[in-house]
Amino acid sequence: MFYDRIDFLGEQKGEKGTNKYFRCQKCGNALILSEEGIIYEVSAKLRLI
Ligand SMILES: [Zn+2]
Repeated sequence: MFYDRIDFLGEQKGEKGTNKYFRCQKCGNALILSEEGIIYEVSAKLRLI
């Protein structure tokens, strides 16, 4: 998946390395890029629960 409009929020050290956090400007979803290069997308709606 390709995201062209994202904001870089910051990075945080986890157990397996540094995760980078972004936010999609379109839908507000959070995107987490792991050190292995895997992108996790967290729904903006789910974060309200
Ligand atoms: Zn989005």
